[in-house]
Amino acid sequence: MSSAGSGTPTKVLSIVGAGRSGTTVLAAVLGEGLGRFDAGEVRWLWNRSLQEQRPCGCGLPLSRCPIWSRVIQGVLGVAPADQTTSLAAAVDIVAAERELTLRHNRLRLLRSADGRHTEWSALRLVRAVTSDLYSRLVDVTGAGVVIDSSKRPADAAVLAALPSIDHYVLHLVRDPRAVVDSWGRAKPALDGTTVMLPMRPAKIALRWMESNGSAELLRRQLPHDRWLFMRYEDFAAQPRTSVETILGFMNEGVATPFANADTVVLGGNHTVAGNPDRFRSGSVTIVSDEKWRRRMPRHRQLATAAASLPLLHRYGYPITGVRSS
Ligand SMILES: [Zn+2]
Repeated sequence: MSSAGSGTPTKVLSIVGAGRSGTTVLAAVLGEGLGRFDAGEVRWLWNRSLQEQRPCGCGLPLSRCPIWSRVIQGVLGVAPADQTTSLAAAVDIVAAERELTLRHNRLRLLRSADGRHTEWSALRLVRAVTSDLYSRLVDVTGAGVVIDSSKRPADAAVLAALPSIDHYVLHLVRDPRAVVDSWGRAKPALDGTTVMLPMRPAKIALRWMESNGSAELLRRQLPHDRWLFMRYEDFAAQPRTSVETILGFMNEGVATPFANADTVVLGGNHTVAGNPDRFRSGSVTIVSDEKWRRRMPRHRQLATAAASLPLLHRYGYPITGVRSS
């Protein structure tokens, strides 16, 4: 395992929360500054992206991406272009990650964020691999700050316990009715290779509760100054101010790629995985997607609100008063 050349801990921001909460675009904006790197949803690296040769944000398979091919080869000791050998080398990592995220291990893993459970062999392996991965990522990219939009609190718990990582968490929450509406329709992929299929409303509401409930459990394990809560709606209403707030939370300079208060210029990226929006580049205007308010049936809005209590109230979203036409 290698260590960062400077010997200083790598600054990593984990974005946690439910899917379709705006994490992809926020991570892209945060990763756009000098010295910052948007790694995408790193959680998928070993168990999906490498196995299925899914494209990096640069459009190339990970095995040919100039960033990730070097990082993967460094961690595994074999070139990812040799798929059979690299998959065999990653099989223990995939098995350990699977063990950590089993439902009955969830609480134990979240509580490990303070560094405990060093006797848990699967956790020891994933911690070592994760530390090595980020160290090599910094070596290859030269970045001082890495954005990981894996969204899953479990992955943030692993990062929080690593002495080689200077770790911060951004908990991004979106109104569950908007999330249900978004998941209710397929997400076409801009690269033509993947499509995010629609899901049933009850299942989405349950996932929203589980994701944010796990985030709340993780929050209790971490120092207050390492945790920032933000609503997607507030970010979308004031994008530049919100990004400056996040950078300030990480004690980073507030240079942002905004052309004005809500328009950002995005270059290319090397995101491991994530929402198809990660393939967007150029000038992007950030606006809150509120179409669910008029197209979502009222009975579904109310059912989603009922299923999302009491976190709905905790995050300041109204239970009623939303009108569909
Ligand atoms: Zn790439």
